[in-house]
Amino acid sequence: IDTSTYNENCIIHSIIRTWKQIKSQFDNESMSILLPIAKNPSFVPSTLDSGYIQWKELGIRTIGDLLVDGNFASFSQLQAKFGLHKHNHFRYLQVRAYVKKHTHTLENIIPTEFDELFKLGGGEGHLISQFYNMLLLRSSPSTQGLRTGWEQELGSEISDELWKASLENIHKCSVFPNTSPLCDKCHTEEATLLHSYSLCTKLTPFWSGIFKILSDMFHTELRMEPLLIILGVSGQLFQFNKRQQQLLSYAFIIGKKLVLMFWKKAEVPSVKLWL
Ligand SMILES: [Zn+2]
Repeated sequence: IDTSTYNENCIIHSIIRTWKQIKSQFDNESMSILLPIAKNPSFVPSTLDSGYIQWKELGIRTIGDLLVDGNFASFSQLQAKFGLHKHNHFRYLQVRAYVKKHTHTLENIIPTEFDELFKLGGGEGHLISQFYNMLLLRSSPSTQGLRTGWEQELGSEISDELWKASLENIHKCSVFPNTSPLCDKCHTEEATLLHSYSLCTKLTPFWSGIFKILSDMFHTELRMEPLLIILGVSGQLFQFNKRQQQLLSYAFIIGKKLVLMFWKKAEVPSVKLWL
């Protein structure tokens, strides 16, 4: 495989980025035994040495192929099983060092849950939903930890029912999970995206100031509207031409960026900052 063709492919880039996020989110440090040996960019020798392609032809394709009952095979085991010629000993040591570096052991290397899943291949169907369920399953211990943390903080137990309700709240304002569902500015309303971007009373002077300035600029009255603030759409925009609409949309984007900069703070951005 020529990797250079993939380096400029933005879809593959974003898949890899998402995958890395999932990996770090779930603390999945373990190495996949489905990793290919030949032409594997993270195993540098294999990108320089075409000898590993020969391994592939002999049937040693993935890290998993190097294992015997979960343990890293000895060189003679590989020779016997795959007919590997003895001049491959150096390559064997290289790949063994690579595996050891990432798994920190050469014994009891078990497939990750993800490995099990990917091994199912396309034939099984529902791969996406299985994958999703696995991610959910993986994430549940961490909410348990969160719950324990809160219970300690509150000095009392949180019932299953209450915990479920609070998780739903957390999901609603998913920008910052594991924080209080209450708004950090007014401390009275739930910090939904709608609230935190536009409805919070503490933000009213900021947004009304901006609407006042824009109204003066266009000699027309722009009503303050959450939809306009958050999504930049509104029936009010029909009276403006394309250029004016663009200008307005920039104005709201800058406003939202300022709100984001003050997201976790008790303070609010000023209209002066926006200007
Ligand atoms: Zn608020």
